Amino acid sequence: MKTMTCNELGGKCDQKLSAESWDEMVKVMTKHVMDKHPDVAKKMEELHKQDPHKWGRETKPKWDAAPEV
Ligand SMILES: [Zn+2]
Repeated sequence: MKTMTCNELGGKCDQKLSAESWDEMVKVMTKHVMDKHPDVAKKMEELHKQDPHKWGRETKPKWDAAPEV
């Protein structure tokens, strides 16, 4: 299990989000931004259309570097 903050994942608050795997973290983060930051969700959706792998490319290394708890 790893924990990252919304900020580290490209969001804009300090809420901690935990997941067992990167795939799960993507889901947790997606749900969080849709619930809490609709504007960020919209921006991410637009970026995703331009380059579907950009977010993962930039964010997954942070996940990999996060300590396993
Ligand atoms: Zn947030």
